[in-house]
Amino acid sequence: MTTKTLTVGPKIKTALPGPNAKRALAGDDKCISPSYTRSYPLVAKSGRGIVVTDVDGNEFFDFSAGIAVTSTGHCHPHVVEAIQKQAAELIHMSGTDFYYESMVELAERLSKIAPMPGPHKIYYGNSGAEAVEAALKLARYHTRRQNVIAFFGAFHGRTMGALSLTASKPQQKRRFAPLVPGVTHVRYPDVYRGCSGGQQDAEAFALGCARYIEEKLFKTILAPEEVAAIFIEPIQGEGGYVIAPKVFMQELRRTCDKHGILLVVDEVQSGVGRTGKWWAVEHTGVQPDIVCMAKGIASGMPLGIMMSKAEIMDWVPGSHASTFGGNPVCIAAALATLDVIEKEGLLKNSEEVGNYMLKRMSGWPAKHKIVGDVRGRGLMIGVEIIKDKKTKEYGNEERDRIVELAFERGILFLGCGPSTVRIAPPLVVTKDEADAAMDALEESIEIVSKEV
Ligand code: PLP
Repeated sequence: MTTKTLTVGPKIKTALPGPNAKRALAGDDKCISPSYTRSYPLVAKSGRGIVVTDVDGNEFFDFSAGIAVTSTGHCHPHVVEAIQKQAAELIHMSGTDFYYESMVELAERLSKIAPMPGPHKIYYGNSGAEAVEAALKLARYHTRRQNVIAFFGAFHGRTMGALSLTASKPQQKRRFAPLVPGVTHVRYPDVYRGCSGGQQDAEAFALGCARYIEEKLFKTILAPEEVAAIFIEPIQGEGGYVIAPKVFMQELRRTCDKHGILLVVDEVQSGVGRTGKWWAVEHTGVQPDIVCMAKGIASGMPLGIMMSKAEIMDWVPGSHASTFGGNPVCIAAALATLDVIEKEGLLKNSEEVGNYMLKRMSGWPAKHKIVGDVRGRGLMIGVEIIKDKKTKEYGNEERDRIVELAFERGILFLGCGPSTVRIAPPLVVTKDEADAAMDALEESIEIVSKEV
């Protein structure tokens, strides 16, 4: 535990859930889809920066950022102002059938920070799943090939095309088949689970995972010239905050180049500064052909974007579109988000506070018997909880209990993967706030360690 006396921290005033929250939960139980996966009873009322206030006046530190969405913090004044101004001027005109300038303005801004050289073209949708869906359709359209490769543990969304690529939990697919055919899943290079040695072993393991595509798949069940694309999250999100090593990404790129396959990076969760760079793929030196983004790009307004090298986006009018995609208010929020990230130096902050957190937590696997691994880049950090150091058996219930205990202490985390605590605060988070969150997390880990 830190010895520093913290001057910042959440403020919990009622039992959780409080009386107003209880009323909201009862209403929710009656009329809201039971498909949602709530981990604890937070009923949010307002948000500022990293603080979320609930309907009973309790103040929480949001270390989930609304699932990696509120990149500039909750209700950043510049983003709010941009939304209000745009809403008073033009809410909707459908960029599918008409033009408005801000569509181009945002495309030009994104082109400047793209992880591959331009020129680029941009497609606007409403969500992460729609960005992935668009990438899947474009990859098939452009290459005239039907098959794609994705990874176990991947989460690409829940619409039928994106769901076909998703391979994170069985419930996501249960009873929804038949899905889109032509998807082959292969092993993601989860170094913590795949090898027990040092850096050299890790690289050999990761390389082996990538070469499996060339040496096994392409020599048995899949003809490479029939593969349109490989879809990959440079850091798996829902799958457990697992990082694809540089050598793995580079080998994928080589495979794609050799066979004319498109490399699609899903940066819906890892993009827009979360890892300390605009895009997580930049940590690997690999240039993709297509990038999918959503979540953090508009600080909470619904916007999904698929960006490709210009020559790839060769589909013709009528091929793909969405009425609300790239709505003027969402685009205004995205432009304001990019302004804030640049002006407030949030890439640097993400890197610095992320490194600070990783440094403090790096000793946890040695210190706590139920912590297996701490890994991450920038403010995308996973703490994997296990039952046993030798077997690495997933500590699923233990993880859930830790997340619940942290909630009772006023810190909002979420789980991801079978047994990982996901740490993804807004990019504006300070080191003091991070300390408060890590104190609560470590205390929760200690409590659960004693229970098992
Ligand atoms: N891709 C990744 C990497 C994600 O993390 C998610 C959502 O968590 C999606 C796609 C789907 O995004 P959405 O929920 O906006 O459809």
